[in-house]
Amino acid sequence: MSQDRLQALRSEVDVINLQILELLNKRATVVSEIGQVQQQLGVSFYDPQRESFMLTMLEQNNKGPFSNEVIKALFREVFRASMALEEKESRAKILVQRKTPDQRTVITMPDGVTRIGDGNFSMITGSCAVESYEQMDTVAAALAERGVKLMRGMAYKPRTSPYDYQGMGEEGLKIARQVANKYGMYVVSEIMDKSQIEMFSDYVDIFWVGARNMQNSFLLKALGKIRQPVILKNGLASTLEEFLYAAEYIVSSGNPNVILVTRGIRTFEKWTRNTLDLGAIAVLKLETHLPIVVDISHSAGRRDIALPMARAAKASGADGLMVEVHPNPPVAMSDAKQQLTIPQFNELMDTLEKMA
Ligand code: PEP
Ligand code: MN
Repeated sequence: MSQDRLQALRSEVDVINLQILELLNKRATVVSEIGQVQQQLGVSFYDPQRESFMLTMLEQNNKGPFSNEVIKALFREVFRASMALEEKESRAKILVQRKTPDQRTVITMPDGVTRIGDGNFSMITGSCAVESYEQMDTVAAALAERGVKLMRGMAYKPRTSPYDYQGMGEEGLKIARQVANKYGMYVVSEIMDKSQIEMFSDYVDIFWVGARNMQNSFLLKALGKIRQPVILKNGLASTLEEFLYAAEYIVSSGNPNVILVTRGIRTFEKWTRNTLDLGAIAVLKLETHLPIVVDISHSAGRRDIALPMARAAKASGADGLMVEVHPNPPVAMSDAKQQLTIPQFNELMDTLEKMA
């Protein structure tokens, strides 16, 4: 007898579960429609006052046996789930989001054969900063020897301390251009402000937005108006979502040629400058069709672990590697601890070529 009763009650719970399930999904559909209307109105999806109103209404109508605290906790979970769904749906609509597994942005340089994101492993290398013609010429000769096409020609250095080396400015860009022309390479260089775009266009093939400017939306929008490719680095404390929205600023402003460079993330670890985030590379490959390049120099902050870092970067499925090389790193004006010597760079290239 009591077995039958147990069975009956369990069946009742099963039915209620299915009703709750249906109601939860029905609620999600309605909430999603609210999201669409809100988007048309240009207002934010999250409305704390509305949330507080709904919780009060639930409290006032709660007849138990659950306490108000329990009811509020349960509904907060429901609200959170709807928010997450809405965020996922709105992300799915952004231009940089990968829509199909084989969708990829391939950046083709003017020679028609230098490509980034086409399945080859691209190298972006050169010194941290332009210091002199001789230094750039020495490095460029070594890079050209290994077939590197994308050369760092950094003339503006956003240093942590204003007393540290700030770069050669336009004079440095001139040197980078001269040297790149000599060896048939392209200049990539960091831009600080949108007022520099016109001047940069005289010297630079790929514009570079550094970590400190990742969320400079005015600069990003302005770079959306140019036709040259743009490299975008992740910010010092940015999430992957923020990183992709920063790229979205450039792409939605009209420039689809964006390359993401990941420079690791800040963690509690002190023996490396940052922590190379391999998970981020894998997640970015899933989430976006833009090419992903791994900056092992600023991730590690030290040259003695460059080889395993480079191997890991290549194995991670990234589209390329960024590494700093200097003719005499100990006397470099910036990032002396992480720049590779030319022999170390050659060893790294040997290692990567063997992996192919
Ligand atoms: C750089 O790569 O030249 C650089 C300055 O790095 P970050 O913007 O990541 O600090
Ligand atoms: Mn550097």
